[in-house]
Amino acid sequence: MKLSELFYSVQGEGKLMGVPSVFVRASGCNLRCTWCDTPYSSWQPEGEDVSVAQIVARVQEQRARHVVITGGEPMIMPDIAELCVAMKGAGMHVTIETAATVFEPIELDLASLSPKLANSTPHDREGGRFVAMHEKQRLNVQVIQQFIDSSPDFQLKFVVSAAADLIEIEELLSQLNGWLPADVLLMPEGIDVEALASRSIWLVEACKRTGFRFCPRLHVLLYGHARGT
Ligand code: SF4
Repeated sequence: MKLSELFYSVQGEGKLMGVPSVFVRASGCNLRCTWCDTPYSSWQPEGEDVSVAQIVARVQEQRARHVVITGGEPMIMPDIAELCVAMKGAGMHVTIETAATVFEPIELDLASLSPKLANSTPHDREGGRFVAMHEKQRLNVQVIQQFIDSSPDFQLKFVVSAAADLIEIEELLSQLNGWLPADVLLMPEGIDVEALASRSIWLVEACKRTGFRFCPRLHVLLYGHARGT
């Protein structure tokens, strides 16, 4: 697997927010979100090929019982299934963070699904040359449903830029089965405290209306927008 970084921190987003976790960040993505907060794993993927055995050994150097396999897009990595089996074999709780555009059966404990809304489309980046590719691939309802149906636990996490995004979220959810409002998390778009704050109050109000969960970005609040956190 091409690895851009591996580090020990606390989970900053979702149902397991605050849980000490080792993050394994695969490098390479099939999308190009305009606001991507890890461009070194998508727009300019960097890193080195590291074997599954080496990744497991590096994870086991930490005290954590939780591992978060993220990206980039981990589900396009050829050895993702092997890595998950190895992590489960090592006794780890495994979260996969994915945009849920690609499915294959894998061993995991929490599928953290982050379908990408229209606000992610990179009209303003590199002359718009990735717009068509991104639009074609960013949403796959069938794949999202496969993750929901096959995972012991899941969450649907949405990056929200503006109030209009809520309409798109509800349209998507109307096509999916087997979820409860508590499985849906709304996260303000932004990579600094000011941007997050500007979207948080009205997003909390939206959560109060819908029963969805408000999802802050704890790592940004703690460390700012910094790699390895
Ligand atoms: S799916 Fe994730 S890693 Fe890929 S471009 Fe979008 S935000 Fe970045």
